Amino acid sequence: MRACFAKVLLATSVALSPITLPALPITKSLTLQVYQVCDNAGLNCASTGPAGDTFFSTATNTIWAQAGISVLYNFVGQIKSTNFSFIDDNVAGRKFQDLAAGYHFQSTTIVDMFLVHSVAGAYGEGWYGRGGLVMGMDAILAYAAGGRIDTMAHELGHNFGLVDPLDPEHSTTDPGHSTNPNELMSGGATRNVPLTVADINPNGSGYDLVSAYQVAFARKSSLLHDVVAPEPSTFVLMAVGVLGLVVIRRRRVGGITA
Ligand SMILES: [Zn+2]
Repeated sequence: MRACFAKVLLATSVALSPITLPALPITKSLTLQVYQVCDNAGLNCASTGPAGDTFFSTATNTIWAQAGISVLYNFVGQIKSTNFSFIDDNVAGRKFQDLAAGYHFQSTTIVDMFLVHSVAGAYGEGWYGRGGLVMGMDAILAYAAGGRIDTMAHELGHNFGLVDPLDPEHSTTDPGHSTNPNELMSGGATRNVPLTVADINPNGSGYDLVSAYQVAFARKSSLLHDVVAPEPSTFVLMAVGVLGLVVIRRRRVGGITA
């Protein structure tokens, strides 16, 4: 039965693949307000990311390009706090909510990102449906040579309100996460984490997939801003792309009806 179940999962995955759309034109963006947490003396600061990919910007943008979203970074400054260098939601004075409270706490329009040494029991945390995430950089960088490159994108997904309970792949046993391990929004214990950006959907192994449902849902987030209108020639290409999507959607609907 177990092997059979695995086959069903595989078949589901294959069947879903045509729904996976190529990267959309970038029409939405958000700017992360970045804070680097250091000790009380302003020393021993948390890492800002692996060499060559500060803030994991390449990986994060590769993942969210699937939804036509770009992620920009505004380094605001350092925070001097030994306590908040080691976030632990079970210890007073070291909770993420306490660190975030002094900034844009659970904003609906601004996303603060705090880089710390560790987050007890997790690689990172993100508010659900509100702006704000914290990254435990020591464990994230220790995960692989290039770091655990999709943690930031995953927590951002929670900020966008993913995974919605109405998502067809919403897990009932792991609330807020998907059941498909190839999806960005599956839980940290089950997710297939790419070691390089070459394995991010639609390339390589197709990891960190953002499903069509999640694309549509995430793009409604008030944390996002419309990208300034492109040049007319680019706009024509975009229009062709959008038309293509409409055709694909109609075909799918037709297929389901049939
Ligand atoms: Zn999560």
